[in-house]
Amino acid sequence: MERTLSIIKPDATARNITGQINTMIEASDLRIVAQKRIRLTQSQAEEFYHELKDKVFFGSMVQQMISGPVIVQVLEGENAIAHYREIMGATNPAVAEEGTIRKTFALSIEKNSVHGSDSPESAKREVGFFFSKTEIVG
Ligand code: UDP
Ligand code: MG
Repeated sequence: MERTLSIIKPDATARNITGQINTMIEASDLRIVAQKRIRLTQSQAEEFYHELKDKVFFGSMVQQMISGPVIVQVLEGENAIAHYREIMGATNPAVAEEGTIRKTFALSIEKNSVHGSDSPESAKREVGFFFSKTEIVG
C-alpha cells in the first residue's frame, strides 16, 4: 500500500466536476483517505511548487493555482503514486491517453485539472504539506 497527494485544480472546481474526477479515481481502485477543499495562498503555492521556480511558466502556473478553490486529497492503493500518474495522463492534455482524467477534462497544459505526486519523496513531502497524521483515515 502506498499514498500519494492529489490536487483537483481551480479549473476543475470552477466547472463543478470534482465528483466526476473522484468517480474516476475510485473506479481505478484508489481510495480517497483524506480530502479537503481549500484556497491556496500565493506563498503556499510557491512553496508547494518550489522545484519549478526557475521555469518560465512558474508565475502564471502559481496564479492559476490560486485563482479559485482546490481539493487536496490523499489517495491510497497499490502503487498509488505511479498508478495515479497513469490515470491522470500526460501534463499536456493534447498528448494524454484516451480515458485519462486530463484527456477527459483538462482545458490546456496549465488548466490541466489535477496534480499528482511524482515520486515517493515528493509524495511524503506533499502529503505532509497539507495533512497531519490524524486527518488521514485509511
Ligand atoms: N505547467 C505549465 N506549463 C508547462 C508545464 C507545466 O503551465 O509548460 C504547469 C501544469 O499545470 C503542470 C504544472 O505546471 O501540471 C507542474 O508541472 P509538472 O512538469 O510537474 O507536470 P505534472 O507533474 O503536473 O504533470
Ligand atoms: Mg509534477
